[in-house]
Amino acid sequence: MSAPFLKVAGLTAGYGASQALFGVDLDVGTGEVVALMGRNGMGKTTTIKTVCKLLPITGGSIMIDGRDTKRIPVHKAARLGIGLVPEGRRCFPNLSVEENLVAAARSGEWTFDEVAKLFPRLAERRTQSASTLSGGEQQMLAIGRALMTNPKLLILDEATEGLAPVVRQEIWAAIYALKDSGLSILVVDKTIRELKAVADRCVILERGQSVWTDKPENLSDEVCARYLGV
Ligand code: ATP
Repeated sequence: MSAPFLKVAGLTAGYGASQALFGVDLDVGTGEVVALMGRNGMGKTTTIKTVCKLLPITGGSIMIDGRDTKRIPVHKAARLGIGLVPEGRRCFPNLSVEENLVAAARSGEWTFDEVAKLFPRLAERRTQSASTLSGGEQQMLAIGRALMTNPKLLILDEATEGLAPVVRQEIWAAIYALKDSGLSILVVDKTIRELKAVADRCVILERGQSVWTDKPENLSDEVCARYLGV
């Protein structure tokens, strides 16, 4: 079997003197969808930030496409092949939808037209400034921006947070379409039911450590109660 696209082993990291990760192990294979789960404050976002080199590693390792990311300088982090959809769907509010997308572009199959096929609403709003979009449309734009970087791994941090149910379904439909296209995806979300449906594997964090990794069908009520508080 080939090495996973992302391999995180024994990862420790934190915020200055405040340690948040105490040993995270996490793999995402090529074309695999992995759900990173855990209650609030357990280290999901910190793991993602460290993988994207937005926070320094203090211990363990992160291998991306077989390369140790410690050897990749921070200013080259954009070349890791990761498309991050951060918590809070950050876009440039004063730029138009198209400008937001084009500003993120790196060469590859994802172009404005491809993003517009995935999210037709963005095509309709092409010339509107991002600040005038609804929350759902801003989330679509944030995903579109990540795709425009032509990533090998898409990371979604709470992409459906705060959205109306019907809009959430549009976002999940897009995630399914991306899965079907063979993209590797790491997804954090509060909706366990959707995560169980879309993920090939789940990894649960508890106090900054991975404590459970398995297929979603093995995510029993007991495991959910113990680690996810539901
Ligand atoms: P949530 O679902 O609430 O986003 P999470 O699992 O993503 O939770 P993290 O945001 O990674 O959790 O937080 C892990 C730990 O790091 C928590 O104890 C949190 O208080 C701490 N932490 C997060 N951000 C910072 C920060 N900027 N400075 C200091 N500590 C932080």
